[in-house]
Formats: sequence, structure tokens, C-alpha cells
Amino acid sequence: MRTKSKKTDTLLAHAGRDPDKNFGVVNPPVYHASTIISRTVAEYEASGRNRYNQVTYGRHGTPTSMAFEEAVAAIEGGYRAVAFCSGAAACFASILAYVKTGDHLLMVDTTYGPVRGFCTGFLKRFGVETIFYDPLIGAGIEALIRPNTAAIYMESPGSLTFEVQDVPAIVAVAKARGIPTLLDNTWAAPLFFKPLAFGVDVDIISATKYTVGHSDAMMGVAVCTEESFLRVRNSATEIGNAAAPDDCYLALRGLRTAGVRLRQHQQHGIALATYLSQRPEVERVMHPALPDDPGHALWRRDFTGASGLFGLTLKKGTSKKAVAAMLDGLELYGMGASWGGFESLILPTHPETLRTATTWDSGPALRIHAGLEDIDDLIADLDSGFARLNAAR
Ligand SMILES: *Cc1c(COP(=O)(O)O)cnc(C)c1O
Repeated sequence: MRTKSKKTDTLLAHAGRDPDKNFGVVNPPVYHASTIISRTVAEYEASGRNRYNQVTYGRHGTPTSMAFEEAVAAIEGGYRAVAFCSGAAACFASILAYVKTGDHLLMVDTTYGPVRGFCTGFLKRFGVETIFYDPLIGAGIEALIRPNTAAIYMESPGSLTFEVQDVPAIVAVAKARGIPTLLDNTWAAPLFFKPLAFGVDVDIISATKYTVGHSDAMMGVAVCTEESFLRVRNSATEIGNAAAPDDCYLALRGLRTAGVRLRQHQQHGIALATYLSQRPEVERVMHPALPDDPGHALWRRDFTGASGLFGLTLKKGTSKKAVAAMLDGLELYGMGASWGGFESLILPTHPETLRTATTWDSGPALRIHAGLEDIDDLIADLDSGFARLNAAR
């Protein structure tokens, strides 16, 4: 299939598979492989040079991981993609592709918690300085750039609090200075935002979330331009990354239905956010698709939709005991990390512990993942939760 002219939903159904190569079977098979046999000395010696273009060793890629990479690269509009064993590995290896001792990294303050930990722990130990910046900085990022600024990292909307970044403004500043940009696109992928079309150099996705979509596998992927590909690919090799073939298969299978799933997650997320914004117990809902959200204008300009993950805060003074009474009795919302599966989730969050460039002051914060259950049942479950919260005050 020629992928260039095709729309995302068509690519979700067709990219990265070729029944003609597999006995007419619709889905690519799972290849379990470490050793790859060469027939001649010449072939063996060539394999070292061609390790990213053909199957040469299990760690460098199997036909299954390559099919996944080909599919995601087409869907995200990239040159090539690199599959990782987790989303976190994709974040860390992509950063490591650009920084060395003595460098300076600009990191968004609302970054995924473990990425913050990687910067303040691992990178600091190796002499890379991270400066966290306000997610709303936009073109103001210019003032933070130094001669040794090696990369600018974005995540939009931000983890836990969902601030939308002005990606074009930041990319314009970065491009004028020749600084590469990386963006964690997990919230919107694989449908609602295309970072590479905005000039971002590395589009990072935790495929554990909507790509796999069924809460049963860990996967990550970094989608690259022609310029960024070898850097990220070599970085993955240097940290010994290998994406497991069964998990690549699950991620590929998840992609095929990601379009319809995400639209349903979007619809349920907006319905829950709207319901919550009308509850007297709620201080604020953080969902960029709501018209009064501070990020709404940027979201409308740059995104084509919203996923099912959003935040809210309860009124100040709501006790820990009342929050626990609400959450402990929920029937349909699991309390667990990660998200993007078919099922609804809820978590208490603590944004104030994960901010240094900005301050966070609110009542108790929650994060909800709107699943695919019936929306009336999802709302009724929250209704009962609020009744317990009010009884426990
Ligand atoms: C979950 C998540 C990651 C990490 O992905 P894993 O697959 O859990 O390692 C990275 N970024 C964001 C925004 C995430 O939500």
C-alpha cells in the first residue's frame, strides 16, 4: 500500500502488514528469534553493517517488531520508528540520544513523573543539567536557552494536570537555534496529534496505553525523522533495548481498532468531564476539550480530538477520609497506574510533589481514565461516590 496519501484510519487498518508475504494471512506472524543464520561468510559480514535494515539479530529487531515500527511510522507520518520494551525506555533512550556530560536539557515541568526522576537522578549523576520550564512558556523558552542546550523536551497535555503546550511556538524557537525537540505524545496517540507535522524531531509514545489498549502488555515507540532516526536507533542499541515479539504483536493488533476505541474514550471522557464540572464537590476539571479550559484554544488549533484521560480537583478542605470513602467503594473504576485500556480507572494524584518551575495549589487531585463501559453506569458510579464523600465529611 502507498501510505503517503492515506488517512490515519486507513493506515491503522493496513500499515505494517502484507498478506501476500504470509500465505494470505491477514496479520503478520509472531517471529520469536535471537539467532539469525547467515548462509555465507559474505552474508554474515554484511549483516553487521545492515543491522537496522534487515533481520540480523533478535535484539536489533524481528520481522514482528519491524512490522510494528513500519505501521507506527506510517500512522505518525515519520521516516522510521524504533520499538521499545516500554514507554519509559522510549523516553529515556530518546533523551540519551541527544545529551552528553556538560549539556543542558530543557524539560517541561509537567513531564511524566519517571522522566523527571530520570533527569534529576540518572542524568544528574552523569553531569547533564536539567532545567524545568513552565508548560505555558511558549516562545518565552528563548530566554532559557544556553549555548550548551542540547534538547527541548515537551509533553502535551502535561501529566496529571493536562496543560496544553504551544508546540509550534517552542519548535520555532528551537529550529532558529538548531536545537532538537522531543515530545511525549502518549495522551493523543495514535489519532489526535501528529508532532512530526509540527516540526518535532522525535515523537515518543507509550504504546502501553491506547496502542496496546487492553492493559496486557508494555510497549514504547519513538517515531523519527530521517535526521533523528539513527541517533535514536543507536541509543536504543546502546542501552540494550529489545521489544518482545509477542508484545509487538499485541501492539499491532491494538492499532487496528485504536481509531474506534479512541473516539469512544473521547466521547466518554468529555461526558464525564462535563458531568464533573457541574458537581458542587468539584473545584476544577482539567480537560482541554472543555470550552472553559485554559488550554482549550491551543488544543482546538493543534489537536483533532481528545483521549479519555483527564484530571479534576475536589474543593479545598475535602478530607483524605472523604476522598477515600468516595474512591474505595467505586464498582467500575479500578485504582491503578497506567491507562489507555478498555476499562475505567481513577487515581488520587499529587501534582504539587512533581512541580519545581511552577507551583500547584488545589484541593485533592484525581485522575480519571474514561473506559468503554456504558456512560450512564459510569456516571451513576461516580454519583454514589459523591454520596459517600458527602456522608464522610
Ligand atoms: C505511561 C506513560 C509513560 C511510560 O510508559 P510505560 O509504558 O508505562 O513505560 C510515558 N509517558 C507518559 C505520558 C505516560 O503516561
